[in-house]
Amino acid sequence: MDLKNNRQSFLGGNLDKVLSQSLVGIIGLGGGGSQIVQQLAHIGFKRYLLCDFDTIEETNLNRLVGATISDIESKSRKVDIAVRLIRSLHPDAEIQSIPKRFQEEAAALMKCNIIFGCLDGLGNRDQLERLTRSAKIPYIDIGMDVNDKIATEPPRMSGQVIASLPGCPCMRCYGYLNEEELSKEYAAYGDAGVRPQVIWPNGVLSSTAIGIALNLLTHWTDRSNKQILYYEYDGNSGTLKPHLFYERELHRNTSCPHYPGFHS
Ligand SMILES: [Zn+2]
Repeated sequence: MDLKNNRQSFLGGNLDKVLSQSLVGIIGLGGGGSQIVQQLAHIGFKRYLLCDFDTIEETNLNRLVGATISDIESKSRKVDIAVRLIRSLHPDAEIQSIPKRFQEEAAALMKCNIIFGCLDGLGNRDQLERLTRSAKIPYIDIGMDVNDKIATEPPRMSGQVIASLPGCPCMRCYGYLNEEELSKEYAAYGDAGVRPQVIWPNGVLSSTAIGIALNLLTHWTDRSNKQILYYEYDGNSGTLKPHLFYERELHRNTSCPHYPGFHS
């Protein structure tokens, strides 16, 4: 094993191969995606596909890991900030950066071994899940929100991490995506408002997503130890736990009717 990995050798004898060969896709490089990139780079991953159409704005500095004041002046693209962060640790990393919406370069995503989705909106998640399911790629989605619409109560911070794996329940099975909510979002298109994005819940969620991914890639916790695939985060109480729906369904024979025929 590479000596650099002696503090994470518990991940198994396969680790060097996993880090050098796995192509990891990170779709959305804002508050969540930038933290996922940072952790993957520190762990030692060498092959990346990065996708985000956006450039940085001053309001992103409170949560976009790797961003600097000079990025604001130069209007840096978010993909370039992520590339710089990776190259500061791995000058030889193989990086494909796509400064577009993922829907415009869907074919490029198909080569990934695992994809992290750090996107705004349910419609984007729905489309990315369809893509990853069709290519049998494990997909891990993170998201957070703060609801401060109830004047008599303190704001409620919530979030979720969902792993949508070939042959396993999907985000529709879990009820996270449904036609009613998708229709509502499409109807409100262009009027989505400013959604809260905050660095510390994104830290919890991105770290959890990384933990799921490393388990999938190295099996270090042992295959018999069933990985939780849907976590819910409560930022007010500071808890992260298996989603109630997931716990209820865990012991049932759950095959996904939405993406039939895609068994691992
Ligand atoms: Zn399903």
